[in-house]
Amino acid sequence: ASLEDLDDAVPAPNRQQDRSVPAPAHPGTGFGNTPDTDPSLPANRTWGRAILDRVTTSQLGNDLVARTTLSGAEDLEETIAGAVSAAGAWGAMTGAQRAAVLHRAGDALEARRSDLMEVMAAETGKTLDQADPEISEAVDFAHYYAERARELDDVDGASFSPVRLTVVTPPWNFPVAIPAGSTLAALAAGSAVIIKPASQARRCGSVMVDALWAAGVPREVLRLVQLEENDLGRQLIADPRVDRVILTGGYETAELFRSFRTDLPLLAETSGKNAVIVTPSADLDLAAKDVAQSAFGHAGQKCSAASLVILVGSAATSHRFRNQLLDAVASLTVGYPEDAGTQMGPVIEPATGKLLDGLTTLGDGESWLIEPRKLDASGRLWSPGVRDGVKRGSTYHLTEYFGPILGIMTAATLEEAIALQNDIDYGLTSGIHSLDSREIATWIDGVQAGNLYVNRGITGAIVQRQPFGGWKKSAVGAGTKAGGPNYLVGLGSWTSEEATA
Ligand code: GLU
Repeated sequence: ASLEDLDDAVPAPNRQQDRSVPAPAHPGTGFGNTPDTDPSLPANRTWGRAILDRVTTSQLGNDLVARTTLSGAEDLEETIAGAVSAAGAWGAMTGAQRAAVLHRAGDALEARRSDLMEVMAAETGKTLDQADPEISEAVDFAHYYAERARELDDVDGASFSPVRLTVVTPPWNFPVAIPAGSTLAALAAGSAVIIKPASQARRCGSVMVDALWAAGVPREVLRLVQLEENDLGRQLIADPRVDRVILTGGYETAELFRSFRTDLPLLAETSGKNAVIVTPSADLDLAAKDVAQSAFGHAGQKCSAASLVILVGSAATSHRFRNQLLDAVASLTVGYPEDAGTQMGPVIEPATGKLLDGLTTLGDGESWLIEPRKLDASGRLWSPGVRDGVKRGSTYHLTEYFGPILGIMTAATLEEAIALQNDIDYGLTSGIHSLDSREIATWIDGVQAGNLYVNRGITGAIVQRQPFGGWKKSAVGAGTKAGGPNYLVGLGSWTSEEATA
């Protein structure tokens, strides 16, 4: 589709901007991207402040988690058997009937925007500027997959049969949009769903699921389980009644899941180690701003985050890019989400292991342009770090850290820069800043990543406009892109009527 087609596709359902007034209901058909909250409106700043007044993250996490009731073995068996028996009726509804429920689910998520943002901040330390677009994305998934469900009714000479049972295992870093997106896709396709939220984000998962139930998704069809990552988790993944597992998480988790069951039907979006290439033709000031945002938004805890910037030719030797980047990074205000002015929040847990190494250890020939500092005793609050001199094939070059660290590499040519990105086993996002269309075309042809961004940041994919999915070790299982036109197809199969006649 051309960009004009996308713009004209359907009327936008919601241009509501003042969050102190309830959003209007979705018209019931059509899709348009939901606007984020506009912080330039004074009413919205008051609204945001009221959310943060309810949040104390500095003492978060563990108490909240402790208060969640975990499912036991009998509950789990009841959950699986119950979901399987409820799946038939849900799958037998027309796509249009399910679409009506999904549109209401989108409205319910919108109506709980502030509650969801509050639990995200409280439970995972997400700042409101990061939490707000995540709600928009969750709402978008509901309305978008609703429209895709309608299309399942409408194919000449073929009928769509959904899988019966989908298990959704989302991550903690997008604790609302990803669980909502995976769940809504499976429901739209006609499958029953068991969702197991990440253990660091159980309340986010449960408030999200409550919204879907309140919107009319039957409790028998959508089931929530809170499990430790222990034997019960393994039992759920390995259960032969499970037809699909939608995982977003580390590559190692996908491997672990596969070790539970060899024929596991997995749809997984996994790790990333993503670079932005900056060529001499680039607008270097814009590039520095976009790299800083992509590297340090949500403290770098995104599969899509920029972990490397690769400076080509004179972009590497001039001081301009580095100076602009250092100014942008050094001026970031780090703190807890409830503190006024916080631009970068804490990491999810006290830094240990690989992340701590990335924050404290330099490789051969590397130096800190900005050295990360531990800002309090919690071990969660770190100032952002920028390391220079990352060498090809080094540990930093090839490792995903999932935290507030950026490394600078240099390349003599664009081709060499592309090779540096392609050396990496993962291929999730990648970016280029260049004002030369031949360079951009060369990069698009050569770079191995699922999501490519030109002259903008490399995080924050938008439903329908930027369907999101990985390549190489950033995807496991036959993947079509989330938020794109074919995602539901992976959750069932088409049978031609001739074949069955
Ligand atoms: N979809 C998110 C983005 O575009 C990334 C999801 C993830 O980190 O898993 O930034």
